[in-house]
Amino acid sequence: MIFENNLHFAQQLDKQDILASFRSEFLIPEKNGEQLIYFCGNSLGLQPRTAVVEITKQLAIWQNHAVEGWFDGDQNWLNYHDEIKELLAPIVGAKPTEVTCMNSLTVNLHLLLTSFYQPKGKKIKILMEGGAFPSDQYAIESHVKTRGYEYQDAVIEIFPRDGEYTLRTEDILSKIHQHKDEIALVLLGGINYYTGQFFDLQAITKAGHEIGAMVGFDLAHAAGNVPVNLHDFDVDFACWCSYKYMNSGPGGIAGIFVHEKHFKNDFNRLAGWWGYQLDKRFKMEKGFIPESGAEGWQVSTSPILLMATHKAALKVMNDAGFENLRAKSIQLTAYLEFIINEINQEKGEEIFKIITPKNPAERGAQLSIICKENGKQTFDALVEKNIIGDWREPNVIRISPIPLYNTFEEIYKLGQALR
Ligand SMILES: *Cc1c(COP(=O)(O)O)cnc(C)c1O
Repeated sequence: MIFENNLHFAQQLDKQDILASFRSEFLIPEKNGEQLIYFCGNSLGLQPRTAVVEITKQLAIWQNHAVEGWFDGDQNWLNYHDEIKELLAPIVGAKPTEVTCMNSLTVNLHLLLTSFYQPKGKKIKILMEGGAFPSDQYAIESHVKTRGYEYQDAVIEIFPRDGEYTLRTEDILSKIHQHKDEIALVLLGGINYYTGQFFDLQAITKAGHEIGAMVGFDLAHAAGNVPVNLHDFDVDFACWCSYKYMNSGPGGIAGIFVHEKHFKNDFNRLAGWWGYQLDKRFKMEKGFIPESGAEGWQVSTSPILLMATHKAALKVMNDAGFENLRAKSIQLTAYLEFIINEINQEKGEEIFKIITPKNPAERGAQLSIICKENGKQTFDALVEKNIIGDWREPNVIRISPIPLYNTFEEIYKLGQALR
């Protein structure tokens, strides 16, 4: 599509948008009576109107049934996650038995590392992205230390080439093969939080398996944003949070994926009663027997109120249809890219340098933009104009147009403000 940099054109795109009505399903924050232009859904997605409805429903069950809420009726709390699994599975390309929601992201990463990081002999290393999200770095650091290794002996970090901002798939694959006798686990983000680069999960998984390593992904910035096929890609495990692209609320319940081929394996795990075989869970017997599937990694009693917002938000996403969301997302991000490039062209220099890959297949709903000068002032000036992006030191503004609630007009207005 040939884009135009004017209000009428942006409004026309909004008129043609088959998902336009979904914006009204969300509560858009306001300042001084004016709606914010919110481009920060990659950090905290907006609140769906149905969240309070679903929470209220669960509060009423608590009020009226108390402990019987766990067992009473078809919609009892013991089964409450079943529908969530059905909603989650297509979003990450999994079978419902391969996913569950539990805990929070970093906690789940720890639980999965306990099972899937299996250093043996010379194969003790974890391959990860240099500059990964700090929580992932700390989780990995603490795992190699608790297994008795020094960080520098057990972690291989891969960085972009000099002068480049993103990783080349060929470099990731060759790094895997180069260290084929040392790597026990390949663990990357699905999308790098800083650059917005979407990795080739399938190729990376294949390369990892060729050298006999486990392969897992932190999908914090990928789940609900870009299409992934965890089952078909043969990924061993994955985890994600639900408060970014899944709009499930601050600190919302997180998700995990474990490939079906591992269901029979006898993994090390940090067990708790909620992962026990469901039909015998309340017999309270000695000796842990895991429930089959991802649910075997559950530890604690389901946090129903967190799951309520998650369920409400996933239903909205499901109503919109993930393919529709992705199609609109590609177009929104392309329009944002066009608007930024227009400014650069006008100024005759690249004052806003986009470091996110140009190829739509290698990115989701985020552009990371390096400001050549006055980055923080630029960001603050946007906030003054009620435009919310997100600032990353030392000079990056991340702008994330979300297909469920952002509009082309908002992107046009961002361009006017930046100009
Ligand atoms: C957002 C994010 C996290 C946050 O983890 P929490 O445990 O939810 O605080 C971790 N890792 C990545 C890659 C993230 O993008």
